[in-house]
Amino acid sequence: MDDLEKVHRLRQDFPILNRELAGVGTPRRLVYLDNAATTQKPRSVLDAITAYYETSNANVHRAIHTLGEEATRLYELAREKTRAFLNAEFSEEIIFTRGTTESINLVASSFCSLLNPGDEILLTEMEHHSNLVPWQMAAQRHGLVLKFIPFDPDGVLEFGKLPQLWTSRVRLLALTHTSNVLGTVNPVADFVRFAHERGVPVLVDGAQAAPHRPVDVQALDVDFYAFSSHKMLGPTGLGVLYGKKDWLEKLPPFAGGGEMIRSVTLEGFEPNVLPYKFEAGTPNIEGAVGFAAALDYLGTVGLDWIHGWEQKLTSYALEQIKRVPGLTVYGKAPDRAGVVAFSLEGVHAHDLSAYLDQSGVAVRAGHHCAHPLARKLGVISTARASFYLYNTFEEIDRWIQALEAGAKIL
Ligand code: PMP
Repeated sequence: MDDLEKVHRLRQDFPILNRELAGVGTPRRLVYLDNAATTQKPRSVLDAITAYYETSNANVHRAIHTLGEEATRLYELAREKTRAFLNAEFSEEIIFTRGTTESINLVASSFCSLLNPGDEILLTEMEHHSNLVPWQMAAQRHGLVLKFIPFDPDGVLEFGKLPQLWTSRVRLLALTHTSNVLGTVNPVADFVRFAHERGVPVLVDGAQAAPHRPVDVQALDVDFYAFSSHKMLGPTGLGVLYGKKDWLEKLPPFAGGGEMIRSVTLEGFEPNVLPYKFEAGTPNIEGAVGFAAALDYLGTVGLDWIHGWEQKLTSYALEQIKRVPGLTVYGKAPDRAGVVAFSLEGVHAHDLSAYLDQSGVAVRAGHHCAHPLARKLGVISTARASFYLYNTFEEIDRWIQALEAGAKIL
C-alpha cells in the first residue's frame, strides 16, 4: 500500500474529519491543521472509552470485585503499554498525570524541594510556558537561579554556549524535545551526555515529539520525559511522566491523598511504592483506557511511518508557502517537525486565522504559550499550521490557496 492510499484509509477511522463547516459560500470539508494544540481521535479510542463505561467501570486498586479488578487490569495495562511505547525499563517508572504540564510541575515541585538557595536550573529560550513557569515558581520558593540556553536565528539551540553557561551549581537541565513554534527538534541525546558527564539529570518536554517519532527513553538516557495523551490521538486529561526509578524513589510525593500512601496516622504518613506514590486520588481511568487504544493505533500505523509522512508534508508545505507574497515562516532548523509558524505582513494572526476558518481551515493563532520565544522573534503573535498522520497534500493545498486569497484581500 502506498502512502496516499494508507492516509486515505486511515482517515476513515476519524469521524470528525468528515465534518463539513459552514463558511463563505458552500460548506467546506474541515481541514484540521491544529494538531500541535490537540489531535483528533480515531473510532477505536472512542469505542474503548464507551466499552469501558458500558462493561467495566469501577474504581481501581481498591475493590475486590469483578468490575474493580477489570478496571484495575485495564488501567495497569495502559501503564504497561506506555512503558513499551517508550522502551522504559520498568512499568513503575510510568506515572500517569493530567498532562505534560502536570508532569513538569510534579518534577519542578518535588525535585526543587531538595535544592538549596543559589542552586541553578538550566532551561532554554524556546520553552513552552509549561516548561518555564513551574521552574519560575520553584525558583521563587527555594531561591534558585534560572539560566537559559539561547537559540540562533535559524531556531537552533546554541549547544556551543553550554560550557559558558555551566557552573558547579547547575542541578538540572530541562529542555523541549521539539519546539511547538519553531518546529526545531533538539538533539536531546547530546544535551543528556553533556549534563550526565557533569552528574546532572535532564528533563525533556516531549509533548511535541512523542506523538510524531519513535522515542526510546533508554537510548536517549533521559532522567524524566513528559508528554500528553491528547496530542497523540488519546483523550484529554491524561499525561505521562517517565522518570528513572532511582530518581523517582528519591523524590518526595507531589500531591497528598488516597492511593499515594502506604499507611497514615493522625501525625503523618508513609508514602506508597512507585508509581502510586505520585498518583494521589482516583486517577483518570477512562483516560488511561482511551490512551491505551491510541497507543495501539499508533503502533499499528507505525511511528516511523508517521515521522516519514509528516516530513513529506512539511517539505511540501514549506515549498508551497513560498508562493504567498509577504509571508514569513519562523524556524529553519535542519531537523524540523511538522510545525509551521507564519505571519503575513500587515495582518494580525487572529484575522488571518479567522479568514482561514472561513475556508474550513483550522490553524492556531497567538503566542503559542511561549511569550519569551515570541518576544525574541520580535512578533506578538503568529499563525501556526501543524500536521499529523491523517493530513494530506490536498489539505495543504487548500490551506495555501486560502492564504494566497487572504494575502490579496486582507
Ligand atoms: N510543551 C509543549 C512543547 C507543548 O506544545 C505543550 C502543549 N501546547 C505543552 C508542553 C503543554 O501540554 P498540555 O497542555 O497537554 O499539558
